[in-house]
Amino acid sequence: MTPLDLTLSELRAALAGGELSSRQVTRACLDRLARLDPALHAFLYVAGERALAEAEQADRRLREERRAGALLGVPIAVKDVLAVEDMPCTAGSKILEGFLPPFTATAVRRLQEAGAIVIGKTNTDEFAMGSSTENSAYGPTRNPWALDRVPGGSSGGSAAAVAARIVPAGLGSDTGGSVRQPAAFCGLTGLKPTYGRVSRYGLIAYGSSLDCVGTLTRTAEDAALLLAIMAGRDPLDSTSADRPLTLPDLKAAPTSLPLRGLRIGVPDEYFVAGMQAEVEAGVRTAVAALADLGAEVLPVSLPHTEYALPVYYLLAPAEASANLARYDGIRYGPRLAGSSPQEVMARTRGQRFGAEVERRIMLGTYALSRGYYEAYYAQAQKVRTLIRRDFEAAFERVDLIAAPVAPSTAFPLGAHSDDPLSMYLEDIYTLPANLAGVPGLAFPVGFDGQGLPVGMQLMAAPFREDLLLGAAHAYQQVTDWHLRAPALEEANL
Ligand code: GLN
Repeated sequence: MTPLDLTLSELRAALAGGELSSRQVTRACLDRLARLDPALHAFLYVAGERALAEAEQADRRLREERRAGALLGVPIAVKDVLAVEDMPCTAGSKILEGFLPPFTATAVRRLQEAGAIVIGKTNTDEFAMGSSTENSAYGPTRNPWALDRVPGGSSGGSAAAVAARIVPAGLGSDTGGSVRQPAAFCGLTGLKPTYGRVSRYGLIAYGSSLDCVGTLTRTAEDAALLLAIMAGRDPLDSTSADRPLTLPDLKAAPTSLPLRGLRIGVPDEYFVAGMQAEVEAGVRTAVAALADLGAEVLPVSLPHTEYALPVYYLLAPAEASANLARYDGIRYGPRLAGSSPQEVMARTRGQRFGAEVERRIMLGTYALSRGYYEAYYAQAQKVRTLIRRDFEAAFERVDLIAAPVAPSTAFPLGAHSDDPLSMYLEDIYTLPANLAGVPGLAFPVGFDGQGLPVGMQLMAAPFREDLLLGAAHAYQQVTDWHLRAPALEEANL
C-alpha cells in the first residue's frame, strides 16, 4: 500500500493525523509520474521543485499549527486550461506556447488556500475542443486501462493522471462533457457542477455560456470535498452564483443517505440504437442497484434530446470563434513576423491553431455571420431553450435523471480522427446538461468484455449537486467498481 492508493479523503486524514508527511506523498507522486508519464503523456508541465518546496512548507504547518487546512499537503493535477501563476499554460495549443499567467484561476486558488499542492498541468484537446485528447498540439494522452485507447477528452490528462494513481484528484473543465466522458473512460468519478456554481475566472474560455470547472476523483466523497472548497460567488466572475451548497453527511450509513424515496427518471431518448450493449446493460444494472437502495425508478421524457448535438455544435463554435479572437499573435504567446498587423495575425493564427480549432472558428464565424445568424445561431438559441424546458419539466416529476455518459467505452486512438462528425457523436449524452446548465456526475458502474470501464451519469436540477453526490456515494458504499485500479505495474512500463 503506497500513499497513492489512498483516496483524497483518506490521504488528507493520514496527513492531518501525522501518519504521512506531505513530502513523502509529493515525492511518491513525482516518482510515479516520472515512471508512468513517458507512456501515458498525461502531463504537459511538472512543477517538481516547487511542489516539493510547498510540501515542506505544508509539513511545517502541519507540525507547528497542529491543525490541517482541509487539503493541507495534498497533491493535485490541474488541466492546462486553468491558469496557475508562474506555471506555463498552453490550453494544449501552440498559440499559447510560452505563456506564463501572472494570476491563478479562482477554483485553483481556493484549493491552494485549503493547502493543496499543484504538481503539474495536464494534457487537453486544444482549447478543450475534442473528446479524446488527441487534438492536443503536444500529442495524445493514453488510457491507463489500455494504452492503445484514448482516455476521453478533453480533460484526458487529468483523468489519466488520477486513474493511474499519480494524483488523488485532478481538475478539468466541462463545456460539453469534457469531465464526465473522460471519467467514464478511465473508471473515475467526474463532477460537472451547475453552470455558475464554480468561478470560471482564470479558465481559458471556450464556450462561455457552457463552460464549467469540474473535478476528477476516485470517489463521490472526494468530489464533494473539492466542490465544497471551490464553490461560491467570486467577484471576478459575474456568472458565478451566490447559492448555498448543503452537502449530505457522507459519513452516514448508505441507508440513511437521501436515496430512500428519491425518484430517478430514465429517459428513453438516451438509449439509442447503436450504443454499445455493455454500456446500456451497465447503466440499467446500476439503476436497479439504486432502486435496491430505496430509490423509485420511473420513465421520463426529454423529447428535444436529438437536437442537442446540432445545437451544441452551432453555439459552442460560435462562442469559441468570439473567445479565440484574442489569440492574434500580439497579446499572447509567440508572434510570427509579418509586414502588417493583419499579416502578423493571419500568419500566427494560420500556423499556430490546429485543424480542429480552425474548423470550429470557421463553423462559428459562419453561424454568426450576417444572413446566417437568424437561421443558425438564433435558431439554435431557441432550441436550447426547449432543451432546458425539457429538463425543467422532467425535474418536476423526478429528482435525478440516470443516463449513459457516452455511447461506448474508450475507443482506440485514431478511431475517429478522420471523421469529425463521428467524434462529435461521442458527446450526445453529455451535451444536454451543458445546454440546460444542470449538474451531472459520472461514476463507474462496471467493465466491458475488454476490461474497459463503463460509466453512468446522474443529472439533477440546478444547484442540486447534493443529490448527485449523495446518490453516487450510496452506490459506492455497496459496490467496488470505483476502487479498481488499472494494472500499470504489470504493463511493464
Ligand atoms: N467534446 C466536446 C467538444 O469538443 C466537449 C468538449 C468540452 O467539454 N470541453 O466541444
